[in-house]
Amino acid sequence: MAKVYYIDFHTKSGKNMLQKLKNLIEEAGIEKINFEKRHVAIKIHFGEPGNLAYIRPNYAKVIVDKVRSLGGKPFLTDCNTLYVGRRNEGLNHLETAYENGFSPFSTNAHVIIGDGIKGTDDIEIPINLEYVKNAKIGRAIADSDIIISMNHFKGHESTGFGGALKNLGMGCGSRAGKMEMHSSGKPRVNEVMCRFCKKCAEVCAHQAITYLATNKAKINQDLCVGCGRCIGACAFNAIKPIWNESEEILVKKIAEYSLAVVKGKPNFHINFIMDVSPDCDCASYNDVAIVPNIGILASFDPVALDQASVDMVNAAPAVEESSLKQKKYHQDKFKMLHPDTKWEEGLIHGEKIGLGERKYELIKVK
Ligand code: SF4
Ligand code: SF4
Repeated sequence: MAKVYYIDFHTKSGKNMLQKLKNLIEEAGIEKINFEKRHVAIKIHFGEPGNLAYIRPNYAKVIVDKVRSLGGKPFLTDCNTLYVGRRNEGLNHLETAYENGFSPFSTNAHVIIGDGIKGTDDIEIPINLEYVKNAKIGRAIADSDIIISMNHFKGHESTGFGGALKNLGMGCGSRAGKMEMHSSGKPRVNEVMCRFCKKCAEVCAHQAITYLATNKAKINQDLCVGCGRCIGACAFNAIKPIWNESEEILVKKIAEYSLAVVKGKPNFHINFIMDVSPDCDCASYNDVAIVPNIGILASFDPVALDQASVDMVNAAPAVEESSLKQKKYHQDKFKMLHPDTKWEEGLIHGEKIGLGERKYELIKVK
């Protein structure tokens, strides 16, 4: 049975949350990992501007300092998004991270955008699973020797909740990887937005993009293999993915991508159950938290960690003013918020493919 360690948010003099977090990761066994001279990717979401529910940089510094003290070479990282926003290419993603307080001054670590300036810098990791054969993972993350995930646990419109698996699987995918998880189809060109810069055809390895006499790009749907590289290449957001994957297959693909990220590497995961907003941190706002702040959990097992986190949220009282309509204990709050989502299928699939196990022992750290 997997062990999941946790701390609550009670503090006193000499025992603030940063000190408690250090205790937590030590008790959970982070020192068992050999960090000596290894590159350590600390995967985190830097927060979309306007959304204030993301993990504070102060917590990241605790993890960075611990890794450095053990001889490791840590950096903070995330990959670019598929949707239009302030994290959809490398430079504005970096600016967002700085704007939200993630700098070497605050965290003692550099920020590296995992899949480069256009979201096209990835490595294919063969996993040969049911839905994903070759996962497209941001190169900086795929090149790392050790993976640590810091995950803000909150609701999500497509996956029910976002925790360790969402941050690992979807978050470490390059734009092509994200396209593969979100879509079972091929992208299209929005002709109104196309500026005829001709960058998209340069990155297409399948000669699927041609240009019309009207000076607009066109994707040949027969030649296109849906790799998503052209989406990252278009600076004008004229190439749109088709968001058509079913909720069930989406969470299963995320589990498979998560396995690709940690495959063959020491890995350690931390869930922050605080400011549990109903929607994802990718939104440019965060509504009233659905439950009171619960605690921080750590484990070597990302499946057990997410299972323990969702169980704790579902067992907690709902916040009166939140968007939860039915304020009952022991009910699936994420299903209430996002009825079509299938979060449990992701955890079941994660267990099936050997990413972790759903049974856990919860151990409180003082
Ligand atoms: S990269 Fe974008 S703007 Fe440029 S030609 Fe292709 S679709 Fe049009
Ligand atoms: S998705 Fe890939 S194969 Fe299809 S047009 Fe874009 S770059 Fe070419």
